[in-house]
Amino acid sequence: MPEEVFWVDKIAREIVDREKTLNRGTKKFRCEMGLGASGIPHVGSAGDGVRSYVVYLALKKLGKDAEFIAYADDRDGLRKVPSGFPDSLDKEIGKPVSLIKDPFKCHSSFAEHIESILIDAFNKIGVKFNLKRAHLEYEKGTFDKEVIEVLTRAEEAGRIIEETTSSTKFRERLPFAPICKKCGSIITTHAYKFIPKDKKILYRCDDEFVGKNVNTGNEIVVKGCGYEDECGIRDGKLAWKVEFAARWRALKINYEAYGKDILESVRSNDKICKDILGYEPPVHSFYEMFTERGGKKISKSAGNVFTVQNWLKYASPESICLLYLKKLSKTRVVDADAIPAYEDEVDELARVYSGEVKIKIPTDLAHFKRLYEYMHFLSPPKNKPISVQYGVLANLMKLVHDPELVKQTLIKTGHIKGKLSGAQEKLLDEKLSNISNWVSDTVEDENIQINLTDTQKEALHKIAESLIKKDWKEDDLLQEIYTIGKELNLQSGDLFKAAYLTLLKSERGPRLAPLILAIGRKKVAEIFKKA
Ligand SMILES: [Zn+2]
Ligand SMILES: [Zn+2]
Repeated sequence: MPEEVFWVDKIAREIVDREKTLNRGTKKFRCEMGLGASGIPHVGSAGDGVRSYVVYLALKKLGKDAEFIAYADDRDGLRKVPSGFPDSLDKEIGKPVSLIKDPFKCHSSFAEHIESILIDAFNKIGVKFNLKRAHLEYEKGTFDKEVIEVLTRAEEAGRIIEETTSSTKFRERLPFAPICKKCGSIITTHAYKFIPKDKKILYRCDDEFVGKNVNTGNEIVVKGCGYEDECGIRDGKLAWKVEFAARWRALKINYEAYGKDILESVRSNDKICKDILGYEPPVHSFYEMFTERGGKKISKSAGNVFTVQNWLKYASPESICLLYLKKLSKTRVVDADAIPAYEDEVDELARVYSGEVKIKIPTDLAHFKRLYEYMHFLSPPKNKPISVQYGVLANLMKLVHDPELVKQTLIKTGHIKGKLSGAQEKLLDEKLSNISNWVSDTVEDENIQINLTDTQKEALHKIAESLIKKDWKEDDLLQEIYTIGKELNLQSGDLFKAAYLTLLKSERGPRLAPLILAIGRKKVAEIFKKA
């Protein structure tokens, strides 16, 4: 089947075939993503969501009834005061994030405030989901059966956790964290006995935890209050190393993508799901993590976290999907510097998709086409992009400081031919506005060295002199440039290269004469004089 050259199609096929083999009467296929509710989501945080979402789309395309669930981990305890949050949160460390007030007072809890950032990101990217919140699911009793089964066989669970993750923690305690009735912490409690007939859990609040305020750098020590009591099976949460398993079975999940950082937890959950809960765990894919170069070139980012919103300020939703969907097995650097290459790749893929760029190997072509289709959530646009690189447009923007002027330049240089459709115009305006943001937020790279020969410099100086002399027409100016090149025995290719490097820091660019006239001959003369 030619479609299955792309990982998403392969996984969707694997999920469907596996359900057939398992023969457990699956009518609805469910893909899931976790929605962190405790820290500012980094651009990588939306990755597992987009990856799981496209698998959901692929299942629907195969004619299956499917659902995409976002699960907010809002019963987790607060471990760190996130970047940009007030120090008043120091005293909330250890409490479940759904029970902490929103310090900015715009949402009903701290958790909802954080969730809203990711939800907004997914809305902007175009990912649709059914949201479930951990604290509500526990309150409703969604996991009652699973909690009982896991706690009844806690010894076995503890052994599996040790085998798969080498953590011995749950050999000595139950894999369940009660919310302390006295101090409200979920991080310092220690559950030691389960009484199945009463569905009660005995616990003591006697652990110690060291949290952090990332703004002040202070360590915050949270000590258990010493309280001892019993609680019900809905009054806390399962430990991560067993909780996924409970969720997978209770919500009947068929697929979830994960970052490699939690590989061990997933393995432990897989085994617990199978051996203790008797449920075949979902198909997973694991991907490499995202890293940053420290974001040092962003001069005005909010906090230290490079978010989806940051990315979308400079680039299209398709480029972020390209980042997530391209290859799972490669570590990706994500920061503002990475953006031009991704935007150019989106344009290149559009040209491959339209047939303008030829790809010889059929499987490669099929692969690129599927990537392009999934980047657009299976509704790829018909529009062809304008063929000017992001970096060139950015340098043009630096010269003229006005998206409208850049657009006029592109019309004069022939990159925009004829009248743009409404949709094309909107896309171009968005792109130029993104580039304008990028130019004003990133710091010029001083490492770019432009090495011109003396003859090249002399030619540029001569062109500068000519530019000042009179108001040139496009054809005459081009002729003049050729003449200057000839007089100095300079190949026209080398002369043009010198001009583009000086103006756009690129070896190529839009047609030179109209470009010069669009930027303004006097301004270009100033720049060439300094060459
Ligand atoms: Zn809020
Ligand atoms: Zn306590």
